[in-house]
Amino acid sequence: MEYKVEIRTIKDFLDDKKYFTNINMQRKYIYNHAQAKHLLDSIQKKIPIPAIYLWSNSNGTYDVLDGKQRITVMRLYKDANYLEGAVHNFFIDHMEESTFENYQMPVLVCSGTEQEKIETFRRINTTAIPLKEFEIMNALYQGIFVEEFGNWGINTSQNEEKIFGSGIRGENCIKALSLFTQSIEDYFKHNRDISFVNGLKKQIDKLVEDTFAIFGKYETKDWFVLAKIVLENTNNQSILDTWKLNSGSIVDLFKEYNANGELSNAPSKESFYKELLCCYDITGLDSKRFFTKDDKKILYEQLENGTIKGKKLCPSCKKEHSFDEFEIDHIKAWSKGGKTILENAALLCKKCNTSKGSK
Ligand SMILES: [Zn+2]
Repeated sequence: MEYKVEIRTIKDFLDDKKYFTNINMQRKYIYNHAQAKHLLDSIQKKIPIPAIYLWSNSNGTYDVLDGKQRITVMRLYKDANYLEGAVHNFFIDHMEESTFENYQMPVLVCSGTEQEKIETFRRINTTAIPLKEFEIMNALYQGIFVEEFGNWGINTSQNEEKIFGSGIRGENCIKALSLFTQSIEDYFKHNRDISFVNGLKKQIDKLVEDTFAIFGKYETKDWFVLAKIVLENTNNQSILDTWKLNSGSIVDLFKEYNANGELSNAPSKESFYKELLCCYDITGLDSKRFFTKDDKKILYEQLENGTIKGKKLCPSCKKEHSFDEFEIDHIKAWSKGGKTILENAALLCKKCNTSKGSK
């Protein structure tokens, strides 16, 4: 690879339309006016600024390897109406146009193979404030994919933000993509000309929709883990349907394990959630939710065995109760996959049954 050092005025630099093939990435990030002001102040005072690094492409265009922030400030300042009033007006009042346009800055123009470009870009941008993964991908793999994906990242819905986090510097994009691929960079590389909106976005939409259809009433910070589990089952519509159908009892189950602290103590939340979801497989929960009065009568009759003849004693508190004072309930909870069959039924007095449930 090669590079040469040039000194160019801002005017010459900005007038050369061959530059900035990847400059539009700058629009996606939160613009820092303090930095903008600082840069313009340096130009006004003729203080040198760090060199701009360009990569000379074989088709005659340039990519900006380093200095996008600075170039953007210059362009916005020149175009006047872009910079926030206060910053712009300050310099309009204080800086002469010729001072701005004739300001000289060092420009390094590099050239070489595509691989060298990537390597150079990575090296330059990991020295000072490291670029986030998405910013690097955005600069290296320009195309419709990264463009649309970046736009999604800054316009996510509330539910998307719950799962993938904030859109600052594309972190949510990387997090979302990590669910769909082992190699983030390869994905950007191979999909750069493929529409995100018509492709991956549809998968993400389905995932978010399914995740909230199942766990929507659960208050948690574990959305990403839950989405991951949903995605693993995305091709198994019947299990997703079962989960959706049992959404209420699943959330109750999660809450119960949260309340007793087992979830937070679990070595892996993912495996723990999976375990809890296990009982909601395709065979699902017993479709019979409650025991009947006949079921209760059968157990009530059986109570005679082993107790004082003619007296119906609660097996727990050993006190005598009338039929109406007894309750029939599951031994293994229905929400945990317990069947509504007599083998899984217990008859206790109301008081004992209630205190059992609260344990
Ligand atoms: Zn009792």
